Amino acid sequence: DDARLTGPERQPEDVDAALRPKTLGEFVGQIAAKDNLRVFIEAARARREAMDHVLFFGPPGLGKTTLAQIVARELGVGFRATSGPVIAKPGDLAALLTNLEHGDVLFIDEIHRLNPVVEEVLYPAMEDRALDLIIGEGPSARSVRIDLPPFTLVGATTRQGLLTTPLRDRFGIPVRLNFYTVEELESVVTRGARLLGMTVEPEGAREIARRARGTPRVAGRLMRRVRDFAHVAGSQVIDHALADDALTRLEVDSLGLDAQDRRYLRMIAGIYKGGPVGVETLAAGLSEPRDTIEEVIEPYLIQLGLVARTARGRCLNDLGWQHLGITPPSRSQT
Ligand code: ADP
Repeated sequence: DDARLTGPERQPEDVDAALRPKTLGEFVGQIAAKDNLRVFIEAARARREAMDHVLFFGPPGLGKTTLAQIVARELGVGFRATSGPVIAKPGDLAALLTNLEHGDVLFIDEIHRLNPVVEEVLYPAMEDRALDLIIGEGPSARSVRIDLPPFTLVGATTRQGLLTTPLRDRFGIPVRLNFYTVEELESVVTRGARLLGMTVEPEGAREIARRARGTPRVAGRLMRRVRDFAHVAGSQVIDHALADDALTRLEVDSLGLDAQDRRYLRMIAGIYKGGPVGVETLAAGLSEPRDTIEEVIEPYLIQLGLVARTARGRCLNDLGWQHLGITPPSRSQT
């Protein structure tokens, strides 16, 4: 299922550097986040200091990596990127940190997946801009402190709560990213089409936006698929009919849900009579990792109000039943 069309996870074809906004001005939506960042960037520049550490959190595909790059660019500093699971040993992180230049941004994606011994190295690095290294072994081992240049750590995670408290506390600037509105995604689609040299009519852009799961990465991917349909149809213009037809054939429904989302909803509806059902049970039934369900599938379904997370488990809401076109069983017990 890795290549699901509306999955917000990054896929190889998404690496489309040309489409990535390069400045805060070009970055659509997330107004509160941008307003705050603008202030902190300006202040850091004026004082010629490294900006405070930033944590971006929110579902995949909403622009965390893009914003990290923009922050570095607007600060006028270098950008280094890595990800939590890639840093295996404390020494790997030490190598990254000691290679930073004054003021650089170090971006760590999936920072909640750092190995705990690596995370320990990060604490003094973030707080005191220093590395505590143990040199030698046994009785002759000693600790040496190495000073680091001032730098800004930008971490990204799908949920703030996944971080350990000591790590979370060391970010001065936590920034939450939210799902985009249809209007915002329409701008993302229109802008992307222009950069790809395509013509998309406003109603065509709106249809793609409506079905993009609130996620710019998905909007970009749907746009490229629709472009393929237009190409094969010999059409120069993406209008509403073409977008609607292409997306329907791709099995992206009117809310932007794909087969995996519908399978999740149908499992709660059919087998568990609308719930409540525990996430572990759903994970087993769908053969999906619990993380995928919680970080990737559920946030958008909850945002739409189709599903609720309750203390006793997941429940299908009335809207969920409606979307499936099923009449809920009568709830005599509740
Ligand atoms: P994340 O790191 O949160 O998973 P990315 O920063 O990789 O997400 O963004 C995913 C894709 O969506 C990128 O290709 C980027 O160009 C596009 N994108 C993200 N946010 C925006 C935005 N606000 N405006 C335009 N395009 C965006």
